[in-house]
Amino acid sequence: MAAKYIFLTGGVVSSVGKGVTAAALGRILKERGFSVAVQKLDPYINVDPGTMSPYQHGEVYVLDDGAETDLDLGHYERFIDTSLNKVCNVTTGQVYADVIGKERRGDYLGGTIQVIPHITNEIKHRIGLVSKTLDAEIVLVEIGGTVGDIESLPFLESLRQMRSDLGKENSLYIHVTWLPHIGATGELKTKPTQHSVRELRSIGISPDVIIARSDFPVANELREKIALFCDVEHRAVVPLVTTDVLYEVPLSLEALGLGDFVIDRLGLTARKEPNWDEWNTLVAEIKRKKPVLNIALVGKYVEFHDAYMSVREALKHAAISKGVEVEISWIHSSELEKQRGCEKLTDVDGIIVPGGFGSRGTEGKILAARYARENNIPYLGLCLGMQLMVVEFARHVLDDEDANSAEFDRSTAHPVIDLLPDQKDIVDMGGTMRLGLYPCQLTPESLAGQAYQLDLVHERHRHRFEFNNAYRDVLQEAGMRYSGLSPDGRLVEIAELEAHPYMIGTQFHPEFLSRPNRPHPLFLGFVGAAKQRAAESDGGDS
Ligand code: GLN
Repeated sequence: MAAKYIFLTGGVVSSVGKGVTAAALGRILKERGFSVAVQKLDPYINVDPGTMSPYQHGEVYVLDDGAETDLDLGHYERFIDTSLNKVCNVTTGQVYADVIGKERRGDYLGGTIQVIPHITNEIKHRIGLVSKTLDAEIVLVEIGGTVGDIESLPFLESLRQMRSDLGKENSLYIHVTWLPHIGATGELKTKPTQHSVRELRSIGISPDVIIARSDFPVANELREKIALFCDVEHRAVVPLVTTDVLYEVPLSLEALGLGDFVIDRLGLTARKEPNWDEWNTLVAEIKRKKPVLNIALVGKYVEFHDAYMSVREALKHAAISKGVEVEISWIHSSELEKQRGCEKLTDVDGIIVPGGFGSRGTEGKILAARYARENNIPYLGLCLGMQLMVVEFARHVLDDEDANSAEFDRSTAHPVIDLLPDQKDIVDMGGTMRLGLYPCQLTPESLAGQAYQLDLVHERHRHRFEFNNAYRDVLQEAGMRYSGLSPDGRLVEIAELEAHPYMIGTQFHPEFLSRPNRPHPLFLGFVGAAKQRAAESDGGDS
């Protein structure tokens, strides 16, 4: 069948959970037997979020094919459990770069290049690529930002055109809005939603569904009011009440009939009855009171938790499966570096040092790795966290005091982490990293080998620097093990310590492959080791 399209726009304010809504609806449709893909259209002018500060944008989520994408793609993959492709994240920057490239080549034969039709055609072309590339029957397209933003106009114009290109039965518009709560009168207000829908209408798009996010329960009269003023069916006004449990969203939307309404409007019939058993169990398990583990996350952007979205989710997934709850102590690496906040490490059950770029705070992360090693605290180092675990080991076990990563000290006498010889001429910052899926051969009897119970795995990467092979032997003699290598043996993918219950560093980012019902083995191992440590320090009675 020709693909069906669901377009999601946001109204009133940003951060109303459009990404999670798209992901949850994707799951609802997958549960009905359809193949689904989700695409994010980002109105900013950067080519991709790879070079943007995590403060601006949150985490950069990496796909199998190495695309550096918006963190919403992480929600999509976690909820729908399909691997997405680089065509699933489009930015204004990419669209313009392509159109201008064609113009320079003379492809437009002297025409004047305009937003309509040249930019909008390019956008529509890119939307069309998703179903072809991923063989998807239903494509959900989320437009970043809020209706009314100047930047998103060409995207919205493209969506408007697509209704006539595709036909009404093949396209559906969902508008996700926010109902503010007025404390003084205790009321939820629909006026901003009405305005936002009017704004959307002025562009030529009439929403078929309104998802009304709210911090409070939405009374039926309010649904009726929105239906009346915004000219949508009553059952198409779907309240979405804020929940602490992200994975509950598909269940709530399903309970309100969104799935049936959507397939009905798209002229589809469900191929199978949705089976929510696994999700119900998952959500019940998340809500159950469980023993709490305290895990330190030592990073540079800790005041902005979105910068570590996938790490946090991967920890949650592993915790659910181990029957514990993880409470994260967010520790600022620059503070540790100034010897502030070190006491926060004393009562943690595990330490995570996630990925990162640039030297700020690295000494603090090294201090955290040292603390973990010397006190036998389970440690998981992700990319930079692995590199600094190696630096720490070289400095304090081998006594190479100036050991460092060449990223932070180009003239160090001991660059235990360095660029590979063939990388040394790279000058561009965008798209010059080892990105995406690479194979990793495991040593069966190692900690990592036992965690995975596999010989060969594929994991997602995003880094420039590598373990320097000149130091392999000396570090090994001092107690470091290389439990994961590239199949040709050239690259160290996983390092671990022999004399430690669980100190593992990965050159890749395992957090991107963790799913709620399929926690990542290395996170499982880490949370398991932290649980054991907590039990031991409680005298075994936890
Ligand atoms: N900055 C390091 C590198 O480029 C680590 C990157 C990361 O942690 N993702 O190699």
